[in-house]
Amino acid sequence: MARPKNLRKIENPPQIKGYQQVGGKNTQDAVIINLEEYESIKLCDHLSLTQEEAAIKMGVSRPTLTRVYSTARKKVAEAFVLGKNIVFEGGKVYFDSDWYKCGNCNSLFNNYMHLSKPMCSLCGSLSITPIN
Ligand SMILES: [Zn+2]
Repeated sequence: MARPKNLRKIENPPQIKGYQQVGGKNTQDAVIINLEEYESIKLCDHLSLTQEEAAIKMGVSRPTLTRVYSTARKKVAEAFVLGKNIVFEGGKVYFDSDWYKCGNCNSLFNNYMHLSKPMCSLCGSLSITPIN
């Protein structure tokens, strides 16, 4: 039986749900990149942290970070080379701050002002669900 995965800390969820390829034939094919894989690319490639620093930020060992990051890079390469969409979805993660999803416009936002009744920062809706 596989060992259960520990939760990985990510700062913020992605601002979008994924990417859509342009001009290809198989417009429905998608590569799923989970949120810890997304975070590893963000920390190592976008923010130029070392794998050691990224591992500390995500609360995982360096070998675990290396494995997650390697899988993420392979998936991005697969999407690029084979012309697939990318969908950000799933993963065993928790967020650094309280995040919510709007039931009206589906946007993601955090409650940085610590309001007792947070509302959607985009459309003002009170129909929101905490994300965990
Ligand atoms: Zn909204």
